Amino acid sequence: MSEDAHPKKLIIITAPSGSGKTTIVKELLSSLPQLAFSVSATTRPPRKNEVDGVDYHFMTVEDFERKIEENAFAEYEMVYENKFYGTLKTKLSEIWQSKKFPLVDIDVQGAQKLKELYGHNAASIFIQAPSIAVLKERLTKRGTDTEEMIAERLEKANSEMQMSAAFDYVVINDDLAKAVMMTKNIITDFLN
Ligand code: 5GP
Repeated sequence: MSEDAHPKKLIIITAPSGSGKTTIVKELLSSLPQLAFSVSATTRPPRKNEVDGVDYHFMTVEDFERKIEENAFAEYEMVYENKFYGTLKTKLSEIWQSKKFPLVDIDVQGAQKLKELYGHNAASIFIQAPSIAVLKERLTKRGTDTEEMIAERLEKANSEMQMSAAFDYVVINDDLAKAVMMTKNIITDFLN
């Protein structure tokens, strides 16, 4: 492959909140060195332990709106009430330039938009949690959200769970190790 021929492929991982997606994403990033995490922009406040520029680019609504005007996003969504999240075009380019492939961890609507935009250069993978009851247990155990936020996340998850058919691959996360293995196989097949 010549220097310029690095294919602009990307991996889109999406799932209802609490499906264990973040854990899977971390495992993938540590075991597949050809992937790099696409750090999104968001207007939600950082959780404790989250680092600006690593987990997200945390920004004000004004900054986010300016980026929208500048056409800086490949996609963006208001994922929760007044909470914006977006994939920065510069982030994707930076990763391709480093001869890696972006791993994008985004909500279901954003994932559909990116898939439409990148077509066969994108593999979209939907991580399905076994049930709403399991989701509720996971979100409660995580302890990072208030009861009201958990209720909002569960409501959204309920409708998102019906949408798995819109994606290239569906992985059911009832056993973490198995789900990671399946996802890894999908990604390596797609990239090779
Ligand atoms: P959290 O607040 O738990 O970090 O993320 C909430 C949801 O927003 C998750 O489903 C996450 O994947 C999604 N998300 C994160 N970054 C982006 C993004 O750039 N665009 C979109 N559409 N969703 C995102």
